Order: sequence, then C-alpha cells, then structure tokens
Amino acid sequence: MSSTSDCLFCRIIAGTIDARIVHQDDRVAAFHDINPQAPRHVLICPNVHLATLNDLTPEHEALMGHIVRTAAALAKTMGDAESGYRLVANCQRDAGQSVFHVHFHLLGGRTFAWPPG
Ligand code: 5GP
Ligand code: ZN
Repeated sequence: MSSTSDCLFCRIIAGTIDARIVHQDDRVAAFHDINPQAPRHVLICPNVHLATLNDLTPEHEALMGHIVRTAAALAKTMGDAESGYRLVANCQRDAGQSVFHVHFHLLGGRTFAWPPG
C-alpha cells in the first residue's frame, strides 16, 4: 500500500495535516516531532506507507540508504554532525512504536545515555 488516509504520517506527507517539514523529496519526508525528546528531534520517513521495519524487502534497500543519508545531511545542517546525534527506529510494541508508518528519529542537541531505556 503506497499511502493510507488513516495513517497520520501519510497525511503529513500528503499535506493534509500540518507539520514543520524540514525536508521533502520524491522518496522521503522529514519533519519536527510534535513532542521533542531533545533540543532537536526530527522524524524521517519514506513517502511510501510501510507499517514497520518488518515490512522492508530488498526493493527498499536504496530507500533506506537514502533515509540514513538524509538524516546525516540534516544533522549536519542542524549543527550536530561533529558533536553527535542519535538515529533510532522503534519497531513494534516492545520498542514503543506508536505510529505505524516507518520512521527514524533524529535526535540532537544533548548527550544520550547508553544503553537506552
Ligand atoms: P514512535 O513512538 O512510533 O517511535 O514515534 C512516533 C513519534 O511521532 C513520537 O515521537 C510522537 O511524538 C510523534 N508524533 C505523534 N503524533 C504526531 C503529529 O501529529 N505530528 C508530529 N510532527 N509528530 C507526531
Ligand atoms: Zn503511512
């Protein structure tokens, strides 16, 4: 399924729900998280609707690479490339996934603990 009207992030990508978009191209969209967990907290997701990382197939490999490279470019733009940032994706219930459209959290502007909670 390429887009669903009942998916929050599909609607943000389509422009029917507002978000503070920082990057959008033919494959990915990036926008500020509505409930930031760090001074800078951006979500990066594919334009195509994929519910979880479990839905990825070989045909998505280039897309995933593009997402990671977009994250790195955004981190550089935000000034976090040298000091550091975290790129994380939650998959399914135990990881705390709450929006079922694949997305990566790009977090910067503070230090992050490891192991994560
Ligand atoms: P997850 O918990 O699935 O890993 O991450 C979902 C993220 O989406 C959360 O960090 C949450 O704050 C964010 N979020 C939920 N609803 C909205 C919304 O309407 N707009 C934006 N920009 N972010 C949202
Ligand atoms: Zn979606």
